[in-house]
Amino acid sequence: MISFEQALNLVAERLAAASLSPASDVVPLDDARGRVLARDVFADRDHPPFPRSTRDGYAVRAADLRQVPVWLACAGEARAGAPYAGKLGDELGVCVEIMTGAPVPPGADAVVMIEHTRRDGSRVEVLRGVAPGENVVRQGSEAPSGGVVLPRGRRVTPGEMALLASVGAATVEVFRQPTVAILPTGDEVVPIERSPKWFQIRNSNAIALGGQVAAAGGIPYQLGIAPDEVGPLRELIEAGLEHDLLLLSGGVSAGKYDLVEQVLGDLGAEFYFQSVALRPGKPTVFGRVRGKFFFGLPGNPVSTFVTCEVFACPAIAVLGGAAFAWPLLLRARLGQPFRQSHGLTAFMPARVEMQDVDPVVTVVGWQGSGDLVGLAAANCLLVVHPHQTELAAGEWVDVFLGYR
Ligand code: AMP
Ligand code: MG
Repeated sequence: MISFEQALNLVAERLAAASLSPASDVVPLDDARGRVLARDVFADRDHPPFPRSTRDGYAVRAADLRQVPVWLACAGEARAGAPYAGKLGDELGVCVEIMTGAPVPPGADAVVMIEHTRRDGSRVEVLRGVAPGENVVRQGSEAPSGGVVLPRGRRVTPGEMALLASVGAATVEVFRQPTVAILPTGDEVVPIERSPKWFQIRNSNAIALGGQVAAAGGIPYQLGIAPDEVGPLRELIEAGLEHDLLLLSGGVSAGKYDLVEQVLGDLGAEFYFQSVALRPGKPTVFGRVRGKFFFGLPGNPVSTFVTCEVFACPAIAVLGGAAFAWPLLLRARLGQPFRQSHGLTAFMPARVEMQDVDPVVTVVGWQGSGDLVGLAAANCLLVVHPHQTELAAGEWVDVFLGYR
């Protein structure tokens, strides 16, 4: 059995080797949130476009303030939207009143804060010196005209949207989102609208997977529910292979009615792994058939959720044109001692919250990998590595916040 890291590396390698290049769309900037840039974006002019004051005060020549206090003559005003028309000439001892965000007039090289001055009519007494450049953002210092401000492959969040707006990108070229077919399997699984018989289970996995796919930048496509029968299962899998990725849930364990691998094998699938030292999620399957990648995720709801987060979501991001990114693990203090005797990597539903100054993570009470009440109480996954067989309360441990 391969380790979690080996399995995730296989996902990254196989996707990279397939060198898929998604098509692109041009969308209005307002609609670009969550999408992945299909082209580098350049600065259309210097940013900032002029030396910008970061303070309210007086634009000065720093050299005039070598000895303070000193009296300067105030020659005018510069405010945002209304720059000072002239410049600070060769004449010594002159300043211009300036507001935050306004262009620093030519000839001035620093801004002295208003708090360090006293005004008397057209004269200003400056009480403290400034270094050249102080309280001024140099023209082009954030980005020079023509320079790359955002690389192709970057996902657009509100921060990127602000930058795109500032370089005049009213429309943005982004990669097409991959469509991800979702196929739950199991004779016991029924649509959520139906009232289940006592032995039936509502199809919660498809709903969770749909949300996870969307959060990872994919477009979920619900195929319905496959029974544990070769014929109909095969037909639905074939329909799923029309999409960029196929996610199956259930039917990948060793039971007599676990038919997913058999049917995929009959269709000529190549399997890259069929079990991983992961808890929950050991029977996870990853492979490719008819040019399309698929994941067979174990059907227990927490297993499905975890394996989608750690394997399928990074794959969806890559299929959508983003660079492969290893799950970002952050550290928190463990709330309660934790033991495990096996050599698996565990991703346990847990809750992380600030306590005093540190984040503290506590595993939610759960009844095993079917416990959706436990999963819903969680806001992260506690990551326990194979060598961490005994963890004491207060130890720093890894936490995965997931795709959200
Ligand atoms: P399996 O991996 O097929 O052995 O499924 C394991 C268990 O997960 C089943 O007994 C069901 O209780 C549960 N399960 C399977 N598929 C779903 C689903 N689509 N939604 C909710 N629970 C499911
Ligand atoms: Mg099943």
